[in-house]
Amino acid sequence: MKKKSVANVDVTGKRVLVRVDFNVPLDQNGNVADDTRIKAALPTIRYLTGRGAKVILVSHLGRPKGKRDDRYRLDPVAHRLQELLGRPVKKVDDCVGEEPKAAIAGMERGGVLLLENVRFYPEEEKNDEKFARRLAELADLYVNDAFGAAHRAHASTAGVAQFLPAVAGFLMEKEINLLGKALTDPERPFLAILGGAKVSDKIGVCENLLEKVDALIIGGGMANTFLQARGCALGKSLVEADKVELAGRLMAKAGEKGVELLLPVDLVVALAPDPDARPKVVPAADVPAEWMALDIGPESVKIFRETVAKARTVVWNGPLGVFEMAPFAAGTFEIARALAQSGAVTIVGGGDTAAAVEKAGVADKMTHISTGGGASLEFLEGKVLPGVAALQDA
Ligand code: ADP
Ligand code: MG
Repeated sequence: MKKKSVANVDVTGKRVLVRVDFNVPLDQNGNVADDTRIKAALPTIRYLTGRGAKVILVSHLGRPKGKRDDRYRLDPVAHRLQELLGRPVKKVDDCVGEEPKAAIAGMERGGVLLLENVRFYPEEEKNDEKFARRLAELADLYVNDAFGAAHRAHASTAGVAQFLPAVAGFLMEKEINLLGKALTDPERPFLAILGGAKVSDKIGVCENLLEKVDALIIGGGMANTFLQARGCALGKSLVEADKVELAGRLMAKAGEKGVELLLPVDLVVALAPDPDARPKVVPAADVPAEWMALDIGPESVKIFRETVAKARTVVWNGPLGVFEMAPFAAGTFEIARALAQSGAVTIVGGGDTAAAVEKAGVADKMTHISTGGGASLEFLEGKVLPGVAALQDA
């Protein structure tokens, strides 16, 4: 499980190909709108430049579908990276072939080069062996720091590792060690909190975590389907009718495993998901016919807070209400604050959950906020991520 770290190989003077996840949102002018992912890769880049490596960065951006597309060029990313690093970043317009080769040949120790969007090549997503070999030719060592892309078996995330010594960057290491420890050897009690809109997005996570946790809290839209399975009236709430039976089975499994499963006991309901809605609180069993559940209620918050306070490890994926709208944000924010105060190892996964924790103002109080949405979900499902599997064992 443990993977070899970039800290444990000799990098001085080496050409190091680093797969990063610079798949950042751009604004209307094509500038980087959120540089979180670029910042997350800085420790590895700085480490390498500091030790006199020649750093060759490769990333994807958006979905150009295997064709050159000016909207997805990495020039704005190079620009932002240069500002953050405080040293020049050279950008080339290709990933393989003569232009990168010439640029790399002219690199000084400690230099940084960014290749063009690797998804301009159809071979990337096909994990084409020839293409992986051409990427490998550019370097002496491969470092994967793109946890967010590790659930994809692509040429730059997996294939290339066949042809070069392959190790984990610091971000990758942090992600797999923290998530890995939670799943294999957590400090107990181990609590998972699952929410978000739909059960169907999180079935695999729910099933896998039921094998590991001591307690499981289910909130958000997901809870409605579980409440329905318990015979509650849900009004117009989002319920996945075809998942009610599954929810019942998962609750039975929790019972067999001795996992404490907590559902909301009260709900914040409104006539519509509207920022100007006039919500009210009702018992979870009786949502009135025309109303819909959009957040957990205050009594649920109290009970969930007590469960969080007892936990030593908490993994949280999925907001507990429609936190994007003020009337339905309290449940999610209160639980975010409870995690921040818990003293437990707290791991947050999922793009919307990370945004909620940020909005609650407690992001810096979490042990770890995973940078990989899809990748962290697959990890929590217990799947082997191809980008992780391709790295050398420690
Ligand atoms: P993540 O990105 O963290 O994995 P999801 O994408 O699964 O989370 O779910 C986030 C979405 O779930 C949010 O947009 C939120 O508004 C929505 N949501 C939460 N609770 C409810 C609810 N009761 N009804 C409808 N949508 C909900
Ligand atoms: Mg989401």
